[in-house]
Amino acid sequence: MLVRFWGVRGSYPSPGAATVRYGGNTSCVEVVCGDTRLVIDAGTGIRRLGRHLEAGSPVHLLLSHTHWDHVQGLPFFKPIYREGERLTIYALERHRQSLREIISGLWAEAFFPVRMDELAAQREFVEVRAGETFHIGPVTVRTARLNHPYIAIGYRIEHAGRTVTYVSDTAPFRDLLLETEVVMDRPDLTRALPPETRRQLDEMEANVVSLAKDADLLIYDTQFTETEYADRPHWGHSTPAVGLAVAMAARARRLMLFHHAPDRADDAMDVILTETRKLAHDGVIIDAAYEGLEVEL
Ligand SMILES: [Zn+2]
Ligand SMILES: [Zn+2]
Repeated sequence: MLVRFWGVRGSYPSPGAATVRYGGNTSCVEVVCGDTRLVIDAGTGIRRLGRHLEAGSPVHLLLSHTHWDHVQGLPFFKPIYREGERLTIYALERHRQSLREIISGLWAEAFFPVRMDELAAQREFVEVRAGETFHIGPVTVRTARLNHPYIAIGYRIEHAGRTVTYVSDTAPFRDLLLETEVVMDRPDLTRALPPETRRQLDEMEANVVSLAKDADLLIYDTQFTETEYADRPHWGHSTPAVGLAVAMAARARRLMLFHHAPDRADDAMDVILTETRKLAHDGVIIDAAYEGLEVEL
């Protein structure tokens, strides 16, 4: 299994001198399992991936959710405009809109000169449920619900005895439950949670730990520092310490800090990585994702 990082930022692309080492493209991770190619999320990183793909190699695109930073590269993914290409898009089933309707919005007239119906590649849309296990050729994929506004899902990908788990975007599972409705005002975190909310969060956390169980690599949303999280708990992002706690509870071998804050300069990322490594024990390896990083599992 080969994991390649094409985009590692959250929220919006952030090119420039201060982000040149970690990279400024939004979320996109390629997972190559033998002849089967999975891509997780279609942030602006997917544009460059599209230029590297050989003609005629089918792509299975797993979306965590459809916030801009996870889909905004898709209209610029070259293979989708080529005859003979195949793209299968997987995402959480929504009750108000089909996945096809949501994705076709990326090619809406007001935003883009081409319509989705005019794309040359064959397209297929697969709606999945949180907690579902499915197969893509020889690859086993499992999902779990995450704690994020509008709801995102994480993925566990297993092939030939290797496992990578992708958990982005998610808030910690301790302070508030984020659902389809967006929370606009900063919630009061000193208030005790209703028992049913607490139960749902505990269950979600257990499912995420299970998703990462014994994983060779856990890629985790660690956008916020602890101070930033305290200020914006309702935005739906975690901190490196939270990612590390999940990695250790799951006995994952390696934690990859991911979905970096767009305005986080490279030097500040270095400091976060060094500080997080100091918190680690039980031999868990910690790295911070950067564009172009390849991890062979
Ligand atoms: Zn995001
Ligand atoms: Zn999001």
